[in-house]
Amino acid sequence: MAKGLDVVIVGGGIIGLAGGYFLSRKKKRVLVIDKGGFADGASGACDDMILFQSKKPGINLELTFESLELYKRLIVDFDDEMQFKNLGGMVLIENDAELAIMEQFVAEQRSYGLDVEVIGQQDARKKQPFLSDHIIASTYSMMDSQIDPFHVMRALEKHGLKLGMGIQRRNGVVAIERLGNGNWSVVCEDGSTHEAPVVVNAAGAWAPSIAQMVGATVPIVPKRGQIVLSERIPPIGETNLWNAKYLVTKLHKGTEVQMTDEERELGLSLAFTRSAGNTYLMGSTREYVGYDKGTTIAGIRGIIDMTLSYLPKMKDVGIVRAMAGLRPETPDGKMILGEHKNLDGFYTAAGHEGDGIALAPVTAKLLSDLICGNPIDRDLGELSPNRFGGMAHE
Ligand SMILES: Cc1cc2nc3c(=O)[nH]c(=O)nc-3n(C[C@H](O)[C@H](O)[C@H](O)COP(=O)(O)OP(=O)(O)OC[C@H]3O[C@@H](n4cnc5c(N)ncnc54)[C@H](O)[C@@H]3O)c2cc1C
Repeated sequence: MAKGLDVVIVGGGIIGLAGGYFLSRKKKRVLVIDKGGFADGASGACDDMILFQSKKPGINLELTFESLELYKRLIVDFDDEMQFKNLGGMVLIENDAELAIMEQFVAEQRSYGLDVEVIGQQDARKKQPFLSDHIIASTYSMMDSQIDPFHVMRALEKHGLKLGMGIQRRNGVVAIERLGNGNWSVVCEDGSTHEAPVVVNAAGAWAPSIAQMVGATVPIVPKRGQIVLSERIPPIGETNLWNAKYLVTKLHKGTEVQMTDEERELGLSLAFTRSAGNTYLMGSTREYVGYDKGTTIAGIRGIIDMTLSYLPKMKDVGIVRAMAGLRPETPDGKMILGEHKNLDGFYTAAGHEGDGIALAPVTAKLLSDLICGNPIDRDLGELSPNRFGGMAHE
């Protein structure tokens, strides 16, 4: 049995690695264990956005502001830009009903300090000359930023290792037991065990199975997202793009939006982002298909059809590959962060759904403060793993 550890983190995606790095910085002896290889989870099959515009006023928006500042500090500390970019973003509006809802939403976001506005068709076109004619307006915010998840994870790993953090890959956790001395014993596939007073469940979409090992419930479900990567092309417009359609249905449940059967079946919404090296990430689907991480012809075709409906110019662009990841979805759209009731030393840091890249640094900072008993200047009750009382998924 390996002893002498302060914290074992189960899951080495962006959340587990960020947690490991922040705890190592606080002189904790940490081991991160992952059942797969580097970036095998959602963190290796996703977009790269630190996205503000999708967020309702509330804790997710507030934490995104904090996370962006933490990313800026990490860029300095690591002396590595991690492909950070600030291209800003536009949410495309297709009709008057969407416009009315987005105008109200933008006003709420502005009152929360987000620098965002609604711009008309002509201004939208100046920023995005190749937009389809049917776009009547758009939102615009310069705050929406990007950072490359692979570079972030490599940097967290490199600097964590320098501080003494351990990482084990391809060795899944199969059991977690409470020892007589109050510590936890984490048992891996190869039979090895690791003892520590604190265990963090950072297993993303797989967090429910880790929680089950200690008799806890974590109501996360996997929501598959497929994305398609283009070849390198000269930049198409200034900003990244989303469509208002999906946001509108989330903001005003029951609002009738015009969707094709394909869009409805696949839960499609547009995300069109210029990533490192001038390739474009196009997505994505929102599908409930259990733990199936495969891509499908229907999904890829749906993404391409949808992208062309907004940017017909993309029709001659080559596709390099498609991939899919499992977003860890919670019933209320907020991450799960904190210690479980009646399970001293057992924490969960998971359930970031489509925001785990954006929220990794702030999650890790809060997690390390919680574990180290440092004061935290916000109430984390709405993120607590103990907040669910039979809440159903939305
Ligand atoms: C298509 C798509 C687009 C997205 N775009 C964005 C975006 O633009 N911005 C953004 O902020 N977020 C985005 N996300 C969401 C983001 O990818 C996730 O929120 C984030 O990656 C979750 O990180 P994680 O570390 O919690 O989970 P993961 O990266 O999934 O890591 C969990 C890890 O746990 C490991 N594990 C599981 N079981 C065990 C076990 N028994 N023992 C040990 N290890 C185990 C897995 O192997 C895995 O590596 C997107 C997601 C998708 C799918």
